[in-house]
Amino acid sequence: MKIGIFGGTFNPPHLGHLAAARTAIEALGLDKLLIIPAAVPPHKELPEGTPAPEHRLAMAEKLADALLLPEVAEVSSLELDRAGKSYTADTVRALHEQYPGAELWLLMGTDMFLTLHQWREPEKILELAGVCAFGRAEGDSEEVFASQKAYLEKTYPGARVTTIAVLGLVDISSTRLRELLARGEGGDYLYPAVYGHILMNGLYGTHADLKHLDIPELRACSYSMVMQKRVRHIRGTEEEAVRLAKRWGADETHARRAGILHDCTKYLELEEQLGLCEKYGVELDELEHRAVKLLHSKTGACMARYLFGEPDEVYEAIFWHTTAKADMTTLEKILYVADYMEPNRTFEGVERLRELAYSDLDKALLLGVETTIQEMKDRNLPVHKNTLQAQAWLREHGVTIEG
Ligand code: ATP
Repeated sequence: MKIGIFGGTFNPPHLGHLAAARTAIEALGLDKLLIIPAAVPPHKELPEGTPAPEHRLAMAEKLADALLLPEVAEVSSLELDRAGKSYTADTVRALHEQYPGAELWLLMGTDMFLTLHQWREPEKILELAGVCAFGRAEGDSEEVFASQKAYLEKTYPGARVTTIAVLGLVDISSTRLRELLARGEGGDYLYPAVYGHILMNGLYGTHADLKHLDIPELRACSYSMVMQKRVRHIRGTEEEAVRLAKRWGADETHARRAGILHDCTKYLELEEQLGLCEKYGVELDELEHRAVKLLHSKTGACMARYLFGEPDEVYEAIFWHTTAKADMTTLEKILYVADYMEPNRTFEGVERLRELAYSDLDKALLLGVETTIQEMKDRNLPVHKNTLQAQAWLREHGVTIEG
C-alpha cells in the first residue's frame, strides 16, 4: 500500500494545497492520502488569531472531502492529539508502526523541501519515507530541486526523492490568505466549503453578516454544511430553479437562493434535525418524527430564515421541497420540480418531467408527486399525507398527465 503524508498547519487550507494533493495522488498512485494538521509546527509559531484546533481539523476534513475520493483521502489528528511540537520524524515513526509494510511518501512544497536536512532526525525521516516535492509558484525552478535532491541522496544514502509538477498550480500561502481574509477578500483562493466554514465561524477576522450574504458567499456557506459529492446536485438545482423562474415569471433571486440552500441540512442526524425543529417551533407529525429524509426540508427552511435571513417565500419553498402540499405557490412548485429534474438527475422518465417542467408546471409537479408516491409504494414505505394532498389537489383542479 502506498500512503502519502501531507502535513502542514493548514491555517487555513487553500486551493494550492488542494492542487498539490490532487496531483500527488495521481502522480504517485497513492492508495491513501493522510492530511495531517500540525499541532505546533517546529519551524514557525502559530500566529495570533489562529483558530482552535477543531476548526483547523474541520477545514482539513473539507479539503479531504473536496478531493471526492473518500476511500483515499483522509484526515489524521495524529499530530493534534500528540502533546508538544509536531516533529515529522515522530509522525513518520508512528505511521510506520500503524501501517507495517506500507510505502510511505512525505509530500512537501518547495519551502519545506529546501530545509528538510535541518529538521529533527532527517536520517530517520528519509529512512522510513520517500519524499515527493513540488513547486508552489511558477518561479520554483528545476535546478533548485535538483541540487537539493542530489544533496539529500548523497547525505542520506538510500533516500528516495522524487519531484512532481503540480497541475493547476495556485501561487498562494496561508499567510497571505489570512491577510486577505481580514480585509474581506481571499475567497477565490479557497475551496468554497472551507471558505464557508471560515465565514460561518467568523475565523481570521472575517465578520460576514450571514443574513446579507452575496451569492458566492451564500453558496460557500451552504456547501460547507454538506458532503462535497452533493454540491453538483445543489448547483444543478440552483441553475434549474433560475431557468424555471425565468420561464414562469417567478422571482429569480428567490429561486436562486432557495436552490442554493435547499439541502443545507441534508447530512444532519435525526437527533440534530429533531433538535432544530424543536428550537424553531416546527410541529411534526408521527411519520416526520422518524423519517429523517422528511426533516431536512423543514430544518433547511429554518436555516434559510433564521441563520441566513431569507424571506418567507424562500422559507416556504424549501419547507415544501420534499413532500409538496396542496395549493403551492409558483416558487414552491419550481423548487420541487427543479430538485427533481436538474441536469444531474438520471432516473427513467426524467426526460418527460423535463419537457413538462417548461410546458406545464402543474403537470410536471403532478408527475413528480406521483413518481414519489409510486416509489414509496414499491419500497413499502409510507407516503406522507402532504404528498397525497398535493396529488388530490392537482387532480381536483383538472391537472392530468396522461398522453
Ligand atoms: P503559511 O503561509 O502559514 O506558512 P502555507 O501556505 O505554507 O502556510 P502550510 O500549511 O504550511 O501552508 O503548507 C503545508 C504544505 O503545503 C507544505 O509542504 C507547503 O510547502 C505546501 N504548500 C503550501 N502552499 C502551497 C501552494 N500554493 N502550492 C503547493 N504547495 C503548497
